[in-house]
Amino acid sequence: MHLNYTDKQNAFRAEVRAWLKDNVPSQPLNSYDTREGFEEHRAWERKLYDSRWSMVMWPEHLGGRGCDLIEWLIFEEEYYAANAPMRVNQNGQLLLGPTLMEFGSEEQKRHFLPRIASSEDMWAQGWSEPNAGSDMAAIRSKAIRDGDHYVVSGQKTWSTRASFADWTFGLFRSDPQSQRHHGLTYLMVPLDSPGVTIRPIKALNGKEAFAEIFFDEVRVPVEHRIGAEGQGWHVAMATAGFERGLLLRSPARFQQTAKRLVALYQANPQIAERDPGVRDAVIESWMGAQAYAQAAYHTVGLVEKGAKIGAEASINKIVWSELDLKMHETAMRILGAYGELRGTAPEAVDGGSWLEGFLFAQAGPIYAGTNEIQRNIIAERMLGLPKA
Ligand SMILES: Cc1cc2nc3c(=O)[nH]c(=O)nc-3n(C[C@H](O)[C@H](O)[C@H](O)COP(=O)(O)OP(=O)(O)OC[C@H]3O[C@@H](n4cnc5c(N)ncnc54)[C@H](O)[C@@H]3O)c2cc1C
Repeated sequence: MHLNYTDKQNAFRAEVRAWLKDNVPSQPLNSYDTREGFEEHRAWERKLYDSRWSMVMWPEHLGGRGCDLIEWLIFEEEYYAANAPMRVNQNGQLLLGPTLMEFGSEEQKRHFLPRIASSEDMWAQGWSEPNAGSDMAAIRSKAIRDGDHYVVSGQKTWSTRASFADWTFGLFRSDPQSQRHHGLTYLMVPLDSPGVTIRPIKALNGKEAFAEIFFDEVRVPVEHRIGAEGQGWHVAMATAGFERGLLLRSPARFQQTAKRLVALYQANPQIAERDPGVRDAVIESWMGAQAYAQAAYHTVGLVEKGAKIGAEASINKIVWSELDLKMHETAMRILGAYGELRGTAPEAVDGGSWLEGFLFAQAGPIYAGTNEIQRNIIAERMLGLPKA
């Protein structure tokens, strides 16, 4: 693996850094899990888009820069190092966008992709159902064809930021006689359609952006279908690969957290005396973040030579979710009782962001497919072990 950057890559890094220096808001935006913060983040996304920094890997005619994966990694490193706002439209930009590029019609691509890049449309992922989480093939929500529409009924749950999003994409059973992953159809549904009800679910942080979505005979035009009728599972599996693979959680996010963790440790030297194990945990966290970054560069090298990421995406998902948890648990050990203070408390450290991160890190081993399921995939598809 060649680890030196080219002059072109260094120039790109300098350009990204300069733009971020001039444009990153001096004060953190409100949480995107609140209505106010969501709209602030949408405005930030628009600003990124206007300067073509929203989706750097997308082609220029879609408002991107046609960057390769190494340039994307560089962009991410600079983005996190600059403490720029968290990206709010990941469902649209990282999951639906690539799915549309692979499976969408030309008209769908022309219409939706620029609106996703600019966050004019914000997207929720509508896959999980009350009895179809890990076992997604158990989906029961229906989409019955009626002329040039589907009539959609049923319930989706655990939908991130569905309380504020404009659209959802999801899998629906279009053949009522079908079983498991057969007879499913991938649809895009506007959340302001008659018959849609959104019911917020309060998360650990007390905010209500997470939601369940109810569909009561919602009429969805056939042109909002991605791929062929009944072929939704095949399309969705491609989306799942994007979710678990590199794109959703770039190494830069964890490298930045590791850097902040080292600084937190150094600002509290008495901790090593009180709890010597913390020093090891800090070192392991920092090394874990560097190792994940090196592994990402290695994977990118392979992909650029034509390799496809398959079941390996499951390893990636386990690594980043467990690393995130370890880093935040270590921060809480350092902070002790201070770790429990919310951002509004006068003595909260780093604006209470460690507590926010700690609460969110609990969900890492669950969302994007639980880590138990990822381990099953590794065991069966990579190691060839018998099915559990
Ligand atoms: C913060 C967060 C955000 C989310 N965002 C979204 C979203 O935007 N859109 C969306 O559609 N979904 C979303 N989800 C849902 C998420 O994908 C599901 O929670 C996940 O797939 C697990 O499904 P479940 O909750 O039904 O748990 P279950 O499938 O009931 O699993 C319960 C436990 O049993 C284990 N288990 C189940 N089957 C097996 C097996 N065969 N072998 C070994 N262990 C097994 C699981 O690993 C888990 O530990 C989100 C979840 C969280 C926590």
